[in-house]
Amino acid sequence: MHPAAYLDRLNPQQRRAVEHGIAGAGEVIGGPLLVIAGAGSGKTDTLAHRVAHLIVNRADPRRILLLTFSRRAAAEMARRVERIAARVLGPDARALTEGLTWAGTFHGIGARLLRDHALAIGLDPNFTIHDREDSADLINLIRHELGFSKTEKRFPTKGTLLAIYSRAVNAEQKLEEVIGRSFPWCAGWNGELKAIFSAYVEAKQRQNVLDYDDLLLYWAQMMGEPALAGEVASRFDHVLIDEYQDTNKLQSSILLGLKPDGRGLTVVGDDAQSIYSFRAATVRNILDFPGHFTPRAETIMLEQNYRSTQPILAAANAVIDFASERYAKNLWSERATGERPVLVSVRDEIEQANFIATRVLENREDAIALKQQAVLFRAAHHSGPLEVELTRRNIPFVKFGGLKFLDSAHVKDVLGVLRFVENPRDRVAGFRVLRLLSGLGPATAARILDAVDAAGGLLPALEAVTPPPRAEQEWPTFLAMARELKANAAGWPGELDLVRAWYEPLLERLHEDAGSRQADLVQLGQIAASYPSRARFLTELTLDPPDATSAEAGPPHRDEDYLILSTIHSAKGQEWKSVFVLNAVDGCIPSDLGTGTREEIEEERRLLYVAMTRAKDSLHLMLPQRFFTHGQAARGDRHVYAARTRFIPPTILGRFAMASWPPAQAEMAGRPGEPRAAVDIGARMRAMWK
Ligand code: ATP
Ligand code: MG
Repeated sequence: MHPAAYLDRLNPQQRRAVEHGIAGAGEVIGGPLLVIAGAGSGKTDTLAHRVAHLIVNRADPRRILLLTFSRRAAAEMARRVERIAARVLGPDARALTEGLTWAGTFHGIGARLLRDHALAIGLDPNFTIHDREDSADLINLIRHELGFSKTEKRFPTKGTLLAIYSRAVNAEQKLEEVIGRSFPWCAGWNGELKAIFSAYVEAKQRQNVLDYDDLLLYWAQMMGEPALAGEVASRFDHVLIDEYQDTNKLQSSILLGLKPDGRGLTVVGDDAQSIYSFRAATVRNILDFPGHFTPRAETIMLEQNYRSTQPILAAANAVIDFASERYAKNLWSERATGERPVLVSVRDEIEQANFIATRVLENREDAIALKQQAVLFRAAHHSGPLEVELTRRNIPFVKFGGLKFLDSAHVKDVLGVLRFVENPRDRVAGFRVLRLLSGLGPATAARILDAVDAAGGLLPALEAVTPPPRAEQEWPTFLAMARELKANAAGWPGELDLVRAWYEPLLERLHEDAGSRQADLVQLGQIAASYPSRARFLTELTLDPPDATSAEAGPPHRDEDYLILSTIHSAKGQEWKSVFVLNAVDGCIPSDLGTGTREEIEEERRLLYVAMTRAKDSLHLMLPQRFFTHGQAARGDRHVYAARTRFIPPTILGRFAMASWPPAQAEMAGRPGEPRAAVDIGARMRAMWK
């Protein structure tokens, strides 16, 4: 084994995990390994060290599969691996870690493997991928075609239909079971749902499109075919997964297909942080992992938390201690000093925003960069008032989770054109594009798409079309663009300019704020330039879209400083010096949108735990005394008076400090964290001018 300096930093358990099964050059594969440990105990760090250690010990990086929760997390991991490996290999580390090409999400890796093996499983390698919205649109179309939406008003919406379908696929459960457990109000529709889903599956196949779930489903199916499974599995010597507690059954069957005896398989996670059961993730995957293999998988627990101060950790532990089911962990931190987390009582969401903006700026004065600070929330729309306040004060921010850049109609329109050219059988894309033409109705669009289908190609069909008189004006330019795209003269990413040249004149007619939308399209062009091909661009953008930035201030530059706004779900695995949690009140955490089953409430508790454990030095939990239900102020005065989240019962209040805001209201108590001023000179100065 290579005597590696980087190992010195690790504690004995971490080191054991890093070195597990790495005997020396040439023999680098050990039995299955599970690292299960609490937040901030260095799980992800240990995984990065392990990958680096594998590479240093001559494992082939191209044969390492590294699965993470987001593409961002994969990129971050690759950077860490390089830094660690460089301590032994010096500049050579870069070339080696660049070989780490199989690092990404389950869905992203699935898409690549399916393209590589498409022909063997009867797929056309040019398949396009539907995002959730496209999938819901297709399901909706089928619902209408089958006439179910007409006969009964209370028929499940397209969103519910997709959720049921997706749950059945990901949990590998029968429809009846899914409905009975999670969608009891749909129990009367079993037959109709079956008909819709069966038509949905057929439509996707006819159109050569895969939805998100298909990327896992087809992959899992592939692993069920011995010949193919062997071929795919033989690509990878090592398979490593972070955040294993948030995988579902389909994902675990893929893993076991890749590594049936567990040799070379490493999984890492924390059962107390499992927060994706609404996507059919099951904590059983991690709990059952050791016993799945004979002999049992090696299990390593990490107990030292390196992230948070002891007071923050103590409060987070107190919250999770009430959880009914979990691996007992005894998490401690050496960082003994620090402030207790603060429960900040504020009048409403406006004051909440005001407090945070003020505090964030004060922190920056104290040399805590904006990037070292984050505001976390249960639901993406909770940050509305805060975004307004930040914009007003010119504080740049980036928002993770929730609405994405790609969700906006104009971006989808432009991508739709590219998708239609890539795969003319993709009817959702085709429909979207054709309907942009003024005077072209749904019936004509459907007729054109049928013709495209029958002709087996885009151009022959489009050239044969006689557009209806009202669409005659815009048709020729559309056709001209399609011809140019098909001729492939512009190449990639030049063809995006062709599409924009066609689309931007339509913007004025389609949208009021054409100007800012045009700016988005310029940005899309810049993003496109960083991808090698149209296919890669479409796939990766659909699977992991870029996040939204503060619209008014314009997207902050990469190296610029900005505050992080994030849903708790998207904050997984990350850490900041200072963390603010919005709306730590009942109705938000736990959310009142769930059905309130015990499992759902427990998951909300874990969410709060995840949020709290993101903080290194300072943590504020915000308690607005009232808030707008679902943040929809427009609905009128739907103020709800709020109570502190039930996950912080009186018995553990001692672990927190209390504060209130605005200062006027808090005059008696003083500003949070500050001694009360003996003399208010500012007030005197103001009085002088009265
Ligand atoms: P989470 O459960 O939130 O994903 P995690 O267990 O993956 O957390 P990491 O993010 O890997 O934890 O590590 C938390 C912090 O602790 C990081 O800043 C990391 O650099 C630091 N850290 C990890 N191990 C050590 C160590 N042995 N010595 C010093 N710092 C460490
Ligand atoms: Mg982690």
